[in-house]
This record gives sequence, C-alpha cells and structure tokens, in this order.
Amino acid sequence: MVFPGDEIGYSEEYLCGKGCYEKDGRIKASVFGEVSIDNNNKLLEVKPLKGEPVILHPGDIVFGRISDVRSNMAIVEIIAKEGEEKKSISALKNATLFVSQISDSYVKDISDAFRIGDVIKAKVLQVKPSLQLTMKGDNLGVVKAFCRRCKSTMRVVGSRLQCFRCKTFESRIKISEDYCKPIGIKEVE
Ligand SMILES: [Zn+2]
Repeated sequence: MVFPGDEIGYSEEYLCGKGCYEKDGRIKASVFGEVSIDNNNKLLEVKPLKGEPVILHPGDIVFGRISDVRSNMAIVEIIAKEGEEKKSISALKNATLFVSQISDSYVKDISDAFRIGDVIKAKVLQVKPSLQLTMKGDNLGVVKAFCRRCKSTMRVVGSRLQCFRCKTFESRIKISEDYCKPIGIKEVE
C-alpha cells in the first residue's frame, strides 16, 4: 500500500501511468492504493482500492491524512480502517480532530502536532452528527510525515523526525510507536 506523496520509482526507469505523478525525476503516488508495475511497457501505476466500503463506528482505529490545520482543529481525510485496509471508505471521509484530542497533555499550538500531508493513526470518537477522531492512546499519533523542504519521507531519530534526503529535523508532539510500520508503508531512502 502506498500513500499519496510516496515515492514509487524513478522517471529514468519507468513511465508514469494512472494514480501517480512525476516530480524532480521521481515518480510519486497521487492516490492511496496498490502499486502495479508493467515491466514490458516500463509503466508504473497506483490502483486505488475497490470493494465494499467500510462503515466506521466509534472505537475503530483509522489512518488519515491531514488536509487542513486550523487554530483549534485539524481536518483529516480518512484513508483506511486498520485491519480492513483493502476496503475503501465511502461516505464520511472527512473527520475533525480537535486540539484537545491530540494528547493527554495540554497542546498550546496545534502546528507543533501536525503539518498538512502528515498521515496519522487515530481512533474514531464519534460518527454522528460529525466524524471526530482522537489521538489519545498508545500507538496513536503521526505515522508518516514528509519533509517541509524536500517532501521526502522522514524517519524517527530519537524523539524527532529526520528527513532521509536533506537531513532536516522536524518534530511532532505525538509520534505513533507504529511510525512507518502500518499497512506495509515503506521507508524510502
Ligand atoms: Zn528533506
């Protein structure tokens, strides 16, 4: 499984098909899905997930991508439910995560917790009337982040994140113990 923004190959070696785009000589996924390699035509594609959609319930663990950060909340686009990653999420794709639900400790500035594009692992707090998430709890938190400068994948170094490519450090208030582990996310060198 790859997330939007993940590097899946080099434009020297492959053509970029559906579900991906080229940037600086690299091919990146534009959708969440499975990579398909056509070696005869040297074509890379990312096929979005299909199948019966998942219906979310309070208590479900989900993966989502931060699509907006406001003063007291983040908007999260739900990508998949843990354990049912191959199914799509149909309705209710957008959730909110309030600043009070980031951590058990007080969070002063929400921008210390997320950047747009981060992938988080969170728990569904409520489904109706609006979908709300919490990151309180073990293993929950940021599971994937991209460098602000060069957009490469960052890895955990101590209690911070470091870019593979340009070596810049960034921090996030709550990094999941499962950082880069879920759904077979590959760390890209
Ligand atoms: Zn970087």
